[in-house]
Amino acid sequence: MYRERGGKGKMERSSTATSSRAAVNGKEPAIITKDRSSPAAKIVVTGSSRSSFPNKKIPSSKGEENIVEESETDSEESDVSGSEGEDTSWISWFCSLRGNEFFCEVDENYIQDDFNLCGLSSQVPYYDYALDLILDVESSHGDMFSEEQNEIIESAAEMLYGLIHVRYILTTKGLGVMLEKYKNAEFGRCPRVYCCGQPCLPVGQSDVSRQSNVKIFCPKCEDIYTPQSRFQDNLDGAYFGSTFPHLFLMTYGGLKPQKTTQDYIPRVFGFKVHKP
Ligand SMILES: [Zn+2]
Repeated sequence: MYRERGGKGKMERSSTATSSRAAVNGKEPAIITKDRSSPAAKIVVTGSSRSSFPNKKIPSSKGEENIVEESETDSEESDVSGSEGEDTSWISWFCSLRGNEFFCEVDENYIQDDFNLCGLSSQVPYYDYALDLILDVESSHGDMFSEEQNEIIESAAEMLYGLIHVRYILTTKGLGVMLEKYKNAEFGRCPRVYCCGQPCLPVGQSDVSRQSNVKIFCPKCEDIYTPQSRFQDNLDGAYFGSTFPHLFLMTYGGLKPQKTTQDYIPRVFGFKVHKP
Protein backbone atom coordinates (compact mmCIF):
# COMPACT_ATOMS: atom_id res chain seq x y z
CA MET A 1 0.00 0.00 0.00
CA TYR A 2 1.49 3.26 -1.01
CA ARG A 3 0.79 6.36 0.90
CA GLU A 4 -0.08 9.49 -0.91
CA ARG A 5 2.36 12.23 -0.48
CA GLY A 6 1.61 15.75 -1.37
CA GLY A 7 -0.90 16.85 -3.96
CA LYS A 8 -1.96 15.52 -7.31
CA GLY A 9 1.30 15.25 -9.09
CA LYS A 10 1.48 18.80 -10.20
CA MET A 11 4.98 19.79 -9.42
CA GLU A 12 4.51 23.25 -8.17
CA ARG A 13 7.83 24.67 -8.89
CA SER A 14 9.09 28.17 -8.52
CA SER A 15 11.88 29.56 -10.60
CA THR A 16 14.37 29.56 -7.76
CA ALA A 17 17.34 27.28 -7.66
CA THR A 18 16.84 25.35 -10.86
CA SER A 19 15.96 27.75 -13.61
CA SER A 20 19.34 27.05 -15.15
CA ARG A 21 18.73 23.36 -15.49
CA ALA A 22 18.68 21.99 -18.99
CA ALA A 23 15.48 21.15 -20.77
CA VAL A 24 14.09 17.64 -20.98
CA ASN A 25 16.59 15.43 -22.69
CA GLY A 26 13.89 14.00 -24.91
CA LYS A 27 14.41 10.35 -24.13
CA GLU A 28 11.57 7.96 -23.75
CA PRO A 29 11.13 6.47 -20.30
CA ALA A 30 13.02 3.29 -19.72
CA ILE A 31 10.62 1.83 -17.20
CA ILE A 32 7.67 2.67 -15.10
CA THR A 33 8.25 0.66 -12.02
CA LYS A 34 5.30 1.40 -9.82
CA ASP A 35 1.81 2.61 -10.19
CA ARG A 36 1.09 4.92 -7.37
CA SER A 37 -0.31 8.27 -6.67
CA SER A 38 1.89 11.14 -7.50
CA PRO A 39 4.28 12.56 -5.01
CA ALA A 40 4.58 16.23 -5.57
CA ALA A 41 7.46 18.39 -4.70
CA LYS A 42 5.55 20.43 -2.21
CA ILE A 43 8.27 21.83 -0.10
CA VAL A 44 9.37 25.28 -0.99
CA VAL A 45 13.08 25.31 -1.14
CA THR A 46 15.44 28.19 -1.10
CA GLY A 47 19.13 27.59 -1.23
CA SER A 48 20.33 24.93 1.14
CA SER A 49 17.34 24.80 3.45
CA ARG A 50 15.54 21.94 1.75
CA SER A 51 13.74 19.52 3.92
CA SER A 52 15.32 16.16 4.45
CA PHE A 53 13.55 14.89 7.51
CA PRO A 54 10.20 13.31 8.07
CA ASN A 55 7.39 15.02 9.94
CA LYS A 56 9.16 18.23 9.62
CA LYS A 57 7.67 21.62 9.06
CA ILE A 58 9.07 23.72 6.32
CA PRO A 59 12.09 25.34 7.88
CA SER A 60 11.89 29.06 8.07
CA SER A 61 15.48 29.37 9.09
CA LYS A 62 18.57 27.28 9.33
CA GLY A 63 18.29 27.22 13.10
CA GLU A 64 14.93 25.52 12.98
CA GLU A 65 16.27 22.94 10.59
CA ASN A 66 18.95 21.97 13.04
CA ILE A 67 16.39 21.37 15.74
CA VAL A 68 14.26 18.96 13.74
CA GLU A 69 17.32 17.10 12.57
CA GLU A 70 17.66 15.50 15.96
CA SER A 71 14.26 13.88 15.78
CA GLU A 72 14.97 12.02 12.58
CA THR A 73 15.29 8.50 13.89
CA ASP A 74 12.43 8.78 16.33
CA SER A 75 9.91 9.96 13.83
CA GLU A 76 10.87 7.60 11.05
CA GLU A 77 8.83 4.64 12.21
CA SER A 78 5.64 6.49 12.82
CA ASP A 79 5.93 8.19 9.49
CA VAL A 80 5.47 4.91 7.64
CA SER A 81 1.92 4.45 8.75
CA GLY A 82 0.95 8.06 9.12
CA SER A 83 -1.30 9.75 6.63
CA GLU A 84 0.20 13.19 6.98
CA GLY A 85 2.95 13.26 4.43
CA GLU A 86 2.99 16.86 3.40
CA ASP A 87 6.17 17.76 5.22
CA THR A 88 8.16 14.64 4.49
CA SER A 89 11.08 14.91 2.13
CA TRP A 90 10.86 12.86 -1.04
CA ILE A 91 13.76 10.68 0.09
CA SER A 92 12.20 9.87 3.47
CA TRP A 93 8.87 9.22 1.84
CA PHE A 94 10.36 6.98 -0.83
CA CYS A 95 12.39 4.94 1.65
CA SER A 96 9.32 4.45 3.82
CA LEU A 97 7.30 2.80 1.06
CA ARG A 98 6.60 -0.86 1.56
CA GLY A 99 9.13 -2.86 -0.42
CA ASN A 100 11.75 -0.12 -0.20
CA GLU A 101 12.91 -1.06 3.29
CA PHE A 102 16.36 -2.06 2.08
CA PHE A 103 17.10 1.46 0.87
CA CYS A 104 18.89 3.79 3.20
CA GLU A 105 18.35 7.51 3.06
CA VAL A 106 21.05 9.00 0.90
CA ASP A 107 22.56 12.19 2.31
CA GLU A 108 21.31 15.14 0.27
CA ASN A 109 24.77 16.68 0.30
CA TYR A 110 25.97 13.61 -1.55
CA ILE A 111 23.27 14.00 -4.20
CA GLN A 112 23.95 17.71 -4.60
CA ASP A 113 27.57 17.04 -5.53
CA ASP A 114 27.58 16.64 -9.32
CA PHE A 115 30.74 14.60 -9.15
CA ASN A 116 28.84 11.78 -7.45
CA LEU A 117 26.22 11.70 -10.19
CA CYS A 118 28.68 11.50 -13.05
CA GLY A 119 27.30 9.49 -15.97
CA LEU A 120 23.78 9.12 -14.60
CA SER A 121 22.17 11.80 -16.75
CA SER A 122 22.40 9.58 -19.80
CA GLN A 123 20.75 6.65 -18.04
CA VAL A 124 17.66 8.34 -16.68
CA PRO A 125 14.93 10.07 -18.71
CA TYR A 126 13.92 13.55 -17.57
CA TYR A 127 17.10 13.51 -15.50
CA ASP A 128 17.01 17.12 -14.32
CA TYR A 129 13.39 16.95 -13.28
CA ALA A 130 13.87 13.60 -11.59
CA LEU A 131 16.77 15.05 -9.65
CA ASP A 132 14.69 18.08 -8.64
CA LEU A 133 11.96 15.77 -7.45
CA ILE A 134 14.37 13.74 -5.31
CA LEU A 135 15.75 16.92 -3.76
CA ASP A 136 12.33 18.55 -3.34
CA VAL A 137 13.44 21.43 -5.49
CA GLU A 138 10.61 23.50 -6.83
CA SER A 139 10.78 24.65 -10.42
CA SER A 140 8.60 26.58 -12.77
CA HIS A 141 8.16 23.71 -15.20
CA GLY A 142 5.57 21.75 -13.24
CA ASP A 143 2.59 23.00 -15.21
CA MET A 144 4.28 22.19 -18.49
CA PHE A 145 3.86 18.49 -18.00
CA SER A 146 0.89 16.25 -18.51
CA GLU A 147 -0.08 13.80 -15.82
CA GLU A 148 1.53 11.07 -17.87
CA GLN A 149 4.79 12.96 -18.08
CA ASN A 150 4.72 13.56 -14.37
CA GLU A 151 4.37 9.83 -13.82
CA ILE A 152 7.36 9.24 -16.06
CA ILE A 153 9.35 11.76 -14.07
CA GLU A 154 8.36 10.02 -10.84
CA SER A 155 9.48 6.62 -12.06
CA ALA A 156 12.64 8.25 -13.40
CA ALA A 157 13.25 9.69 -9.94
CA GLU A 158 12.89 6.24 -8.40
CA MET A 159 15.38 4.82 -10.86
CA LEU A 160 17.78 7.73 -10.37
CA TYR A 161 17.58 7.30 -6.61
CA GLY A 162 18.46 3.65 -6.96
CA LEU A 163 21.44 4.46 -9.16
CA ILE A 164 22.64 7.06 -6.67
CA HIS A 165 21.99 4.67 -3.80
CA VAL A 166 24.24 1.93 -5.16
CA ARG A 167 27.11 4.43 -5.23
CA TYR A 168 26.34 5.99 -1.87
CA ILE A 169 26.34 2.72 0.08
CA LEU A 170 29.94 2.15 -0.97
CA THR A 171 31.06 5.40 0.64
CA THR A 172 32.19 5.59 4.25
CA LYS A 173 29.05 7.43 5.25
CA GLY A 174 26.77 5.11 3.30
CA LEU A 175 28.43 2.03 4.78
CA GLY A 176 27.83 3.52 8.22
CA VAL A 177 24.13 4.01 7.54
CA MET A 178 23.82 0.48 6.22
CA LEU A 179 25.66 -0.77 9.32
CA GLU A 180 22.85 0.53 11.49
CA LYS A 181 20.28 -1.23 9.35
CA TYR A 182 22.32 -4.44 9.46
CA LYS A 183 22.55 -4.29 13.24
CA ASN A 184 18.76 -4.10 13.35
CA ALA A 185 18.53 -7.03 10.90
CA GLU A 186 16.51 -4.83 8.57
CA PHE A 187 17.69 -6.81 5.56
CA GLY A 188 16.24 -10.01 6.93
CA ARG A 189 17.85 -13.15 8.29
CA CYS A 190 19.30 -16.20 6.62
CA PRO A 191 16.61 -18.83 6.14
CA ARG A 192 19.16 -21.65 6.52
CA VAL A 193 18.63 -23.52 9.79
CA TYR A 194 22.31 -23.91 10.66
CA CYS A 195 22.88 -20.17 10.23
CA CYS A 196 20.72 -19.61 13.31
CA GLY A 197 19.04 -16.41 12.18
CA GLN A 198 22.17 -14.72 10.93
CA PRO A 199 21.34 -11.17 9.69
CA CYS A 200 21.90 -10.76 5.97
CA LEU A 201 22.97 -7.96 3.64
CA PRO A 202 21.36 -6.89 0.36
CA VAL A 203 23.18 -7.77 -2.84
CA GLY A 204 22.59 -7.55 -6.56
CA GLN A 205 23.63 -10.36 -8.85
CA SER A 206 24.34 -7.79 -11.51
CA ASP A 207 25.38 -4.15 -11.59
CA VAL A 208 23.26 -3.60 -14.67
CA SER A 209 19.69 -2.37 -14.15
CA ARG A 210 16.74 -4.68 -14.73
CA GLN A 211 18.78 -7.88 -14.80
CA SER A 212 17.61 -9.36 -11.53
CA ASN A 213 15.89 -8.43 -8.32
CA VAL A 214 17.68 -7.79 -5.06
CA LYS A 215 18.87 -10.82 -3.08
CA ILE A 216 20.17 -11.19 0.43
CA PHE A 217 23.67 -12.43 1.18
CA CYS A 218 24.35 -14.40 4.35
CA PRO A 219 27.85 -13.74 5.73
CA LYS A 220 27.78 -17.06 7.55
CA CYS A 221 27.03 -19.58 4.80
CA GLU A 222 28.14 -17.11 2.11
CA ASP A 223 25.18 -17.84 -0.09
CA ILE A 224 22.43 -15.68 -1.49
CA TYR A 225 18.68 -15.99 -1.03
CA THR A 226 15.47 -14.42 -2.21
CA PRO A 227 14.20 -11.83 0.30
CA GLN A 228 11.33 -13.15 2.34
CA SER A 229 9.09 -10.16 1.80
CA ARG A 230 7.18 -10.37 -1.43
CA PHE A 231 7.11 -6.58 -1.49
CA GLN A 232 10.80 -6.59 -2.31
CA ASP A 233 10.14 -8.62 -5.45
CA ASN A 234 10.33 -5.58 -7.66
CA LEU A 235 13.41 -4.08 -6.12
CA ASP A 236 16.21 -3.96 -8.67
CA GLY A 237 19.41 -5.68 -7.54
CA ALA A 238 21.46 -3.07 -9.37
CA TYR A 239 20.36 -0.49 -6.77
CA PHE A 240 22.51 -2.42 -4.27
CA GLY A 241 25.12 -3.88 -6.58
CA SER A 242 27.37 -6.89 -6.48
CA THR A 243 30.07 -5.20 -4.40
CA PHE A 244 28.24 -3.88 -1.37
CA PRO A 245 28.03 -6.81 1.11
CA HIS A 246 31.62 -7.82 0.48
CA LEU A 247 33.04 -4.33 0.83
CA PHE A 248 30.87 -3.93 3.93
CA LEU A 249 32.36 -7.04 5.55
CA MET A 250 35.87 -5.96 4.58
CA THR A 251 35.23 -2.57 6.16
CA TYR A 252 33.69 -3.99 9.31
CA GLY A 253 35.82 -7.12 9.59
CA GLY A 254 34.83 -7.66 13.19
CA LEU A 255 31.24 -8.25 12.17
CA LYS A 256 32.06 -11.15 9.92
CA PRO A 257 30.69 -14.26 11.62
CA GLN A 258 32.59 -17.53 11.73
CA LYS A 259 31.81 -19.71 8.80
CA THR A 260 29.28 -22.35 9.62
CA THR A 261 30.75 -25.81 10.09
CA GLN A 262 27.50 -27.66 10.46
CA ASP A 263 26.05 -29.26 7.37
CA TYR A 264 22.74 -30.94 7.03
CA ILE A 265 23.12 -34.68 6.44
CA PRO A 266 20.25 -36.47 4.71
CA ARG A 267 19.39 -39.80 6.42
CA VAL A 268 17.04 -42.68 5.68
CA PHE A 269 16.06 -44.68 8.80
CA GLY A 270 19.00 -43.08 10.51
CA PHE A 271 21.56 -44.09 7.88
CA LYS A 272 23.37 -41.62 5.69
CA VAL A 273 22.11 -41.70 2.14
CA HIS A 274 24.66 -43.31 -0.14
CA LYS A 275 26.03 -40.95 -2.70
CA PRO A 276 27.00 -42.66 -5.94
ZN1 LIG B 1 23.29 -18.49 5.97
